[in-house]
Amino acid sequence: MLKAQCRCRECQYITGGSPNMFIAMPIDGFSYTLGTPKQFKRSDLERPVTREFCADCGTHLVTRPQSFAGVIVKVGTLDDPSLFGSPKMAIYAIDKQPFHTIPDGLPTFERLPKR
Ligand SMILES: [Zn+2]
Repeated sequence: MLKAQCRCRECQYITGGSPNMFIAMPIDGFSYTLGTPKQFKRSDLERPVTREFCADCGTHLVTRPQSFAGVIVKVGTLDDPSLFGSPKMAIYAIDKQPFHTIPDGLPTFERLPKR
């Protein structure tokens, strides 16, 4: 559905400060082939996303938003992250840090593009 990079603060927490590269895919198009992830959802937000982690190593695997019928897969968790190619947009630029660079010509949105 979408290949992008996100700079929101929560993604920065997870990445260590960098933008987060992700692929959004239909819920039906995603499944785990082995094991069951642990889930985490913030209790202080009105519509928190559900984050899924490897129960053994803590790696953040996917996010399941309430506001979007898709699964957000973290590119770094793919067996071959090079299959990502490149992002098609940058979102949540409002949270961009001075040490972040956005590639020239990449469509950039303060938050999310209008649907
Ligand atoms: Zn984000």
